[in-house]
This record gives sequence, C-alpha cells and structure tokens, in this order.
Amino acid sequence: MNIITSIAEMKKISKDLKKSSRQVSFIPTMGKLHDGHLNLIEEGKKYGEVIVSIFVNPAQFGPDEDFDNYPRDFENDVKTLKDLNIGYLFHPPADIIKNTATYLINPEYSNRLEGIFRPTHFQGVLTIVMKLFCIINPDFALFGLKDYQQYILIKKMVEDYFLDARVIPVPTVREKCGLAMSSRNAYLDEKDKKIACNFYQSLKKTADLFKAGEISGEKLTVSAIKELIKSGFKIDYAKIMDQGLNTEKRTVDSGDILLAAARFKGVRLIDNIFFE
Ligand code: AMP
Repeated sequence: MNIITSIAEMKKISKDLKKSSRQVSFIPTMGKLHDGHLNLIEEGKKYGEVIVSIFVNPAQFGPDEDFDNYPRDFENDVKTLKDLNIGYLFHPPADIIKNTATYLINPEYSNRLEGIFRPTHFQGVLTIVMKLFCIINPDFALFGLKDYQQYILIKKMVEDYFLDARVIPVPTVREKCGLAMSSRNAYLDEKDKKIACNFYQSLKKTADLFKAGEISGEKLTVSAIKELIKSGFKIDYAKIMDQGLNTEKRTVDSGDILLAAARFKGVRLIDNIFFE
C-alpha cells in the first residue's frame, strides 16, 4: 500500500489514476477504523480504485471537545488497510487545514440538530472535505448514514459547487445489539457498551410504534425521549424530520427519519432510524 503524506504527491497520483481511466473512489475517515469504515471501503471497491484518507481534523472539534483524546491507532489502521488490499492511504500533514483563512459554511443546514450543540462542527467538516476533494477530485465519495446530517451537507456542497464526485450513502453498521459502530465507542467499557445499546433500541421502539400505526410526530418523539431518559441518556435532541432535513414532521410518513444525539457517561452518541 502506498502511504501518501504529501498533498502534491496525492494530487499527482490521483491525476495519474484518472489519466489511466481508473475511476477514483474516495473514503475520508478520522481513523481508528472499525467495521463501519471497512464496510464503506468494501462498498467503495465497487466503484473504482479506492483511496482512503485518515486525518483527525482539528477544525471539526469545538474548543471543549475531545480532539486531543480522540482515539487514534494509525499503525493498526495501516495493517487493516493492507489486509484489505487498499492501494492508497492519504495521511495528510497538519498544514492541510492549519492557517486556513477560507472556510466553507452552510448556515441554513448547520443551524439545526448537531449544529446547535456543535456550532463550528460542520464548517470544519465541509472545509476539510472540500480540501480533500480539491486534492483527489474523486469520481465517487462514500459517506456513512450514521452521520446523516453530515451526508446531507456534503451532498449540498457537491451540488452547490458543481463538483464531479458522486456522493454514495452507506447504511450504518451496528454491533449485534444495535449500537452504531463508532471510533468513540472505544471510550466505553464492555458494561457501559451494553447500556449504550439501549440508545438504538429506543429509536427502534419508536420506529416500531410507527409500524403499528402511530403517525403523530409529537407522540412518536415523546415516546423516543421517554425511552432514552429511562435508559439514563442525557438527550441533546431527538427529532423527526423529512429525509431532506428541511422540516420537523407533525405527521410522520414512511421515509421520514428520527435523529437523536445523547450523552452517556460523558460519551456523546448519535444515531438515526428511518420510518418504514
Ligand atoms: P469518521 O472516521 O467517524 O469521521 O467516519 C468516517 C466515515 O465513516 C463517515 O462517512 C462516517 O459516517 C462513516 N461511519 C462511521 N461509523 C459508521 C458506521 N457505524 N456505519 C457506517 N458508516 C460509518
């Protein structure tokens, strides 16, 4: 595997791949790879030559957030990617974002859900993803639906800036108990992980209520909130929105989505479920 740490070299490799008419399939990550990432990578292989990036982006962490402690395991990630036969790992230098004067923002879609609790998060995400896209110019870029608002924002950025990349959404990979895999789960011991499983189970119970015929947005939301509180979560938000994240739903339809973020033992979990 080619580990690329220079921006100029990554640009050249990507250009050369495209010249040789290989389609480039890009998967940006912050590392500490788990099965959720690996699923994105496997999916990415279907679209072309895979480039994975690992970069813990300081710009997407708030001042009181866990940038310094964010789980990192570069050596093991390299081994994992080699085992998957990945050709290119881009591990950019800190300069990729340090001293940046120009940031990308989407005030409308960043001022809801996650954005209320992490006000500078999405400008950090959009800016780093745009930079990575400028360097790699991928044909395809794969993003997990676990971070649904991020996926919507990236899709809008790609549309707004006429970028070549086709954004491919990939379903959330979960532990057996339903807990969405996340690098931050490394903060939880086995006992706490078991309790954290109730987070998704609470969302699922709400989706089951819809299946059983309840369509009141208010009743479904209250039910989700009650379930989450019962399991000991401190809720940041639990909201039912349309798929485009434009409006909170009073009457819920199939295809709408329940999104939630909650804290448990100091760990912040986010997840979502579609109503079917
Ligand atoms: P991260 O390393 O957490 O920034 O995530 C990199 C990419 O992996 C993002 O597109 C995430 O949405 C995606 N991802 C993270 N966890 C999961 C998961 N459990 N299932 C599917 N995709 C995921």
